Amino acid sequence: MSITAIVGAQWGDEGKGRIVDYLAQQAEVVIRFQGGDNAGHTVINDKGKFALHIIPSGIFNPKTVCVVGAGTVVNFDTMETELSSIASAGVDGSNLFIDRRAHLILPLHCMLDGAEEASKKSGWAVGTTKRGVGPCYSDKASRIGIRASDILDPKRLRTRLEMLLPQKNRQLAYYGLPEVDIEELMEHCARWNNRFGKQIIDTHPIIKRAVQENKEILLEGQLGVMRDLDWGIYPYTTSSNPTAGGAPSGAGISPRYINEIIGVVKAYSTSVGGGPFPTELFDAAGEKLRDIGGEYGATTGRPRRCGWFDAVAASFSCWINGFTSIAITKLDVLDTFETIKICTGYMIDGELITDLPDTAGQEKAEPVYEEVPGWMCSTTEARTWNDLPKNAQSFVNRIAELTGAPMKFVSVGPERDQIIIL
Ligand code: GDP
Repeated sequence: MSITAIVGAQWGDEGKGRIVDYLAQQAEVVIRFQGGDNAGHTVINDKGKFALHIIPSGIFNPKTVCVVGAGTVVNFDTMETELSSIASAGVDGSNLFIDRRAHLILPLHCMLDGAEEASKKSGWAVGTTKRGVGPCYSDKASRIGIRASDILDPKRLRTRLEMLLPQKNRQLAYYGLPEVDIEELMEHCARWNNRFGKQIIDTHPIIKRAVQENKEILLEGQLGVMRDLDWGIYPYTTSSNPTAGGAPSGAGISPRYINEIIGVVKAYSTSVGGGPFPTELFDAAGEKLRDIGGEYGATTGRPRRCGWFDAVAASFSCWINGFTSIAITKLDVLDTFETIKICTGYMIDGELITDLPDTAGQEKAEPVYEEVPGWMCSTTEARTWNDLPKNAQSFVNRIAELTGAPMKFVSVGPERDQIIIL
């Protein structure tokens, strides 16, 4: 049996989707354990190129049961759009299930997300994708949220909405937004029930049986540790726990059954949205990383902030997540750099720091770099460790050493086969 959690080791967009897509070829169950449709996983495989937002990256294997877990928040409108966008690949989505306990992102959550962001003082915007994720998780924590199962029972749904809407309508009015009419929302939810009702199930017995029958299970995270609600750069975080600690609770599996935790790192750093980002580059090297790496958001098209690999953040990530191995992606993006920098420490108030500080500390951090020689040749055709140039091998080994876990996958391109397994 193998239960593997795959989590982002940086600020998100590390290429988790491509690693899950690769591993899902053998997986019997893939569970997305947190988050909503606010981040995109790009998957390129034999069926084409796809941007997934809420649907687990195992969806392309029809034999894989794909679960949108209890820890997620779901917008059924965007789920429907996403399903249509992958229908061309012959994916009918019949292997997709949503746990009854997942919370629903209602249109009002999206409206509030935009208004709350716009009301923040300059410099304090989180940079959310305005998908309603934060307001939905707020309602969940306040015990006034609507769960997926509620739309299966109109009487129960109406009672829940009667409790929710007066409060939400006051918030909408505060931002000068139109109030929500309960009948319209009931109709909207009835449409969701027609479309997805049969796929809203209690996933607990299925997952329990899969664990008991020693099936291959993947737990898929979204974003990365630096956006974790507790351990990330609060308040510039997401509203859930993308760390390995969030995986068992969001999926409904005891932590003691998880055998492997794979941290996905990019060979450099990128960040979308606000908050400190100590290795951010504002020079030609940053532009080059963005151009070659195609660093533009899968959901928003926003240019990503780019910088050198930050080993302070990566080793913190390894500690918090307990990586049993790491996967490095986008090594090929560094193919034409004569020299490459790795951040090994921060100078804060004249002191060298190697343990990641909290947000305020990171805001003052000046990166301390070591410089390593590049390899100046293409790695995109490499399929074994020995195919990699010596300097690329040394770079990968140094990343593993500084991060603190063995390297298991080296990705040298976005295609499914552009991967080296160690
Ligand atoms: P995720 O949310 O962590 O899955 O990451 P994203 O999908 O937002 O971003 C990763 C991007 O990098 C996608 O466009 C992938 O197709 C691409 N990608 C993944 N691995 C590699 C790689 O090794 N090399 C290159 N050049 N692109 C990659």
